[in-house]
Amino acid sequence: MVPDAETGQAMKAETARKKKVFTVELRQDWCKGCYLCIDVCPVAGIFTTGGEIGPKGFKPVRVDPEGCTGCMLCELLCPDLAITVERGDETDG
Ligand code: SF4
Ligand code: SF4
Repeated sequence: MVPDAETGQAMKAETARKKKVFTVELRQDWCKGCYLCIDVCPVAGIFTTGGEIGPKGFKPVRVDPEGCTGCMLCELLCPDLAITVERGDETDG
């Protein structure tokens, strides 16, 4: 069924209201602090430096997934397979 203009507008508004949420898990013990993820992530501020030096002598990247678009670039390009991105539930907002 093709929606009429009014229904189409309502569908668009509902889509805009729903916000996809992604989680970005980091295996700290696998991260060697190369910071490639900082370069490839299109959203500034998700990956940052400044983590504590771990037992292997590396400084793992810090992760704050707020604003993640789920593009998967970080998971695909991390040379140490330390990142897992997953889609969570949609929330209002
Ligand atoms: S790309 Fe992978 S190994 Fe490099 S800092 Fe990011 S999470 Fe760590
Ligand atoms: S999935 Fe994309 S937007 Fe999300 S943290 Fe990784 S590179 Fe950044």
